[in-house]
Amino acid sequence: MASPTQNGAVTQYSKALAACQPGIARRVYDASRSLLHGLFPPSCYLCLDPGQPPAFELCPGCEGDLPRNHPACPGCAAPVPECGAWCAACRQRPRAFDAAFVPYRYEFPMAELIHRFKYRGQVALGRILGTLLARRLAERGPPRVDAVLPVPLHPAREARRGYNQAREIAGFVADALGLPLQAALARRIRHTEEQAALPAIVRASNVRGAFEVRGAVPPLRVAIVDDVLTTGATVEELARGLRAAGCRHIEVWAAARAAGHGDGAQAPR
Ligand SMILES: [Zn+2]
Ligand SMILES: [Zn+2]
Repeated sequence: MASPTQNGAVTQYSKALAACQPGIARRVYDASRSLLHGLFPPSCYLCLDPGQPPAFELCPGCEGDLPRNHPACPGCAAPVPECGAWCAACRQRPRAFDAAFVPYRYEFPMAELIHRFKYRGQVALGRILGTLLARRLAERGPPRVDAVLPVPLHPAREARRGYNQAREIAGFVADALGLPLQAALARRIRHTEEQAALPAIVRASNVRGAFEVRGAVPPLRVAIVDDVLTTGATVEELARGLRAAGCRHIEVWAAARAAGHGDGAQAPR
């Protein structure tokens, strides 16, 4: 096993390589991972049964048992009583984005996977969450967007966490669906309070003016990717910026849907 010092050196080297040649770094990482998984097939993260070759750390049984978010509102992915029905909030007030697709509910074990991914530094769980989201998206047919945009983190928060969890998930989704990842399309220009610490009613004002959309010619159709969708205040603010910059069709894709609309949602941001 590598010592902490060795791990630190490897991480520093990977970061430096990724900074100058991100495509090469990803290919080197994927190639070494495929080789390792050829020698040692992955085991399921949840039950330790064999995973799914070549590199998916969930067995088919555990994948099938995850809490699906269906039926869900086409506008915001909130649970609804029947397929195709829109929730009361979306019927009352249209959202800044056109559609939302969130295949799982923020319940055990998805909530645990996301918590470990986001707050305990288990960045490798991004592969599981990103692959799950990509698989469920692929089942719906060809994507109706031209690019994928992860919700940006403020640089200070990203530096503290070491990665942007939305960027990790979006990378796997973009790869799997053959879409360009346009992480530089927007940036967070204002450091905001943790949304999880705030009641739903003030989340919208907390993120107002938090994003800047860059690029003279943004793609016409964009999917915003996040890990958890709760009230939608963050993605709504980002969608407004994209719309003002010229985007015509905006979807929101996330791995898990927590309860929202001010009903006491507690998914961490
Ligand atoms: Zn399993
Ligand atoms: Zn809705």
